[in-house]
Amino acid sequence: MSQQPNPTSTGGDKPSTAKAAGGWPALGSSIKHTLKQAGSLQIARSLLKVNQPEGFDCPGCAWPDPQDTSAFEFCENGAKAVAWEATRNRVTAAFFEQHPVCDLRQRSGHWLESQGRLVEPMRYDRVSDRYKPSAWGDAFALIGKRLRAIDNPDRAVFYTSGRTSNEAAFLYQLLGRRLGTNNFPDCSNLCHESSGVALTEAIGVGKGTVTLEDFDHADLIIVIGQNPGTNHPRMLTELQKAAKRGAKIVSVNPMLEPGLMAFTHPQHAGAMLTGKATPISSRYLQALIGGDLAALKGVCKHVLDAEAEAPGTVLDHKFIREHTRGFDAFADNVRLTDWALIEEQSGLSKQDLAGLADDYIASKRVIVCWAMGLTQHKHAVPTIRMIVNLLLLRGNLGRAGAGACPVRGHSNVQGDRTMGITEKPGEAFLSKLGEVFSFTPPTRHGMGVVHAIEAMLQTPGHVFIAMGGNFAAATPDTDRTARALENCRLTVQVSTKLNRSHTVVGEDALILPCLGRTERDVTSCGPQRVSVEDSMSMVHASEGRNPPASETLRSEPAIIAGIADAVFGGGDPIDWQQHAGDYSLIRDAIERVIPGFERFNERIEEPGGFYLGNSARDRAWTTASGRAQFVAAEIPDLTLPADQVRLMTLRSHDQYNTTVYGLNDRYRGVKGRRDIVFVNQDDLAERGLVSGDRVDIESHYADGVPRRVEGFEAVAYALPRGCAAGYFPELNPLVSLASRADRSHTPTSKFIPVTITRSRTA
Ligand code: SF4
Repeated sequence: MSQQPNPTSTGGDKPSTAKAAGGWPALGSSIKHTLKQAGSLQIARSLLKVNQPEGFDCPGCAWPDPQDTSAFEFCENGAKAVAWEATRNRVTAAFFEQHPVCDLRQRSGHWLESQGRLVEPMRYDRVSDRYKPSAWGDAFALIGKRLRAIDNPDRAVFYTSGRTSNEAAFLYQLLGRRLGTNNFPDCSNLCHESSGVALTEAIGVGKGTVTLEDFDHADLIIVIGQNPGTNHPRMLTELQKAAKRGAKIVSVNPMLEPGLMAFTHPQHAGAMLTGKATPISSRYLQALIGGDLAALKGVCKHVLDAEAEAPGTVLDHKFIREHTRGFDAFADNVRLTDWALIEEQSGLSKQDLAGLADDYIASKRVIVCWAMGLTQHKHAVPTIRMIVNLLLLRGNLGRAGAGACPVRGHSNVQGDRTMGITEKPGEAFLSKLGEVFSFTPPTRHGMGVVHAIEAMLQTPGHVFIAMGGNFAAATPDTDRTARALENCRLTVQVSTKLNRSHTVVGEDALILPCLGRTERDVTSCGPQRVSVEDSMSMVHASEGRNPPASETLRSEPAIIAGIADAVFGGGDPIDWQQHAGDYSLIRDAIERVIPGFERFNERIEEPGGFYLGNSARDRAWTTASGRAQFVAAEIPDLTLPADQVRLMTLRSHDQYNTTVYGLNDRYRGVKGRRDIVFVNQDDLAERGLVSGDRVDIESHYADGVPRRVEGFEAVAYALPRGCAAGYFPELNPLVSLASRADRSHTPTSKFIPVTITRSRTA
């Protein structure tokens, strides 16, 4: 279904969705949220330091900072992220005395996190079902004892959230590998793993190839399966600049997202005074959920047809000849693919796709951006390979203004992977690590998120450690994940704020409160800086400026060193405390182990940091064939039984990953609630339902396990027939652990086959 970007009704009383992102509502919301959490002075100071060369990196998403930062280099959701961490609220021992875990378990994620910052280590007391204060030494000793007691190092699971700094991530992987395991599940397994797998196969490197400056030169930007207005809001600044200079922006998304329709920059006084929003998308294609592979193949087909009509005028033959492999097989497969199948499975007409293809052919420099809308599907990897196929047809890789741009959701999720947080480490990395630290790292691959959950479910006695994040809420199959964690001998959560994962406890459980990204980290060697890597491979420093929420907090490196000393005893050849006291020593080690970090300590001092480089950007293809690789892919038949629709999970505008800042979703017209499901009006009518009715939602997978949520409110929304959407983590109980993307094992949270029926409870 294609749209000139004005929401056309599919009938019925819909929520009053916003027509544009940003503007006064964004400013108002930023001020409201920040003042509610932290004192005006404190928050003003913090916001003037976020994303600044001498400041700290926003704990939100991984959108890069411009070379010349503005005085207010943050978006509405960045302000919320900073305020959420800088909150005045504290979760003390008295709080835990008042609230047994069974009570906390009944509370919403928003309520739990709103209680504030954790201030001291807590150990779970099964008898009273409460957390009790624990000394740091006792907590480390317990972890040391449990890790030494496991019969196999692969009974240890080291989870990492994308907030973890490079220095902490490097030390964390060293701890796990020193122990003897590669079990490093991380939030990338839940989000862009499919991008990493596809890009590595196609162009030899699992990262995006563009830099922020490329957005100044692109004449077509395709945004597919991504909602930047909520999830990467500063990206709207680049899209607005591009639109104003005449570049085309094409959005492919089942949902009509205001941020892709129009934008009023809150820092542009003229626009704020006139209320004049800049139109963003010149073309908006509402493909079916999961229909992107078919849509992209249709675009490639039209491009090849155009080349056939005017040979030598459309394709970049020189690039294809000199830099690629597999073109002929790919082109033949595309030519043999029926338009009828393409239209049926994409939900878009040949004319829609021809329009996008003509935009592509008319453009010299093209960037394609994507996010979870593509990565959380069974066929995610071939879909992302089809993006690369499209880019290769006209040489849109490895030159200015063009390339692949997977936009990461967490501030350092890419950096953590670069630091070795992966269950599938490369041989070169392991041998270097062993050489630098004089031990033999394990070579047996470890477990990512879904495999770790299965292992913990099947076999009691694991030790699960989470460096940040909210594992119990972020993962699929919520009830089964909870049972997996409860089956552990010990669960350890290193966290800044109370969340759902603290209410799901192993036989033993610890909460270890750590410093936040915004806070000063001072050791015996003085103030410490950490580093992060954004979506575009820029590595830069981050130094917290706020006073710690509590004097008892410890940094992530200090916590890792405390655990290591408890496991290995103080006499270990690796001086963990020394590294935790002076992060420049960790960076020295990173420089010796990981290519691209030459003169790391010197270069991290440069304002804005340094570019890590990307071999594909230099057209040096480190693939098996030594060339960029075309690959054909069949269009999967995603047709569901007539009584089912395809449901996708998404964030509200007051949400960041599993962190819920508030209960509104301003852009989609939702106020004060999260138990809702967006459904096409005619699909509701077909089920005898109207907008506002209470419904039960049940998912249907081959494993036959009943998964159901009840009493949600149906909201009619401009979605294609057969498509629905709702929030995670509330809908994660519907996602089967066994339903994952081929080859990347990313849970398929964007394609949940469900039935929606009138609620039997409400
Ligand atoms: S765009 Fe992302 S990184 Fe930038 S301020 Fe907003 S949330 Fe933070």
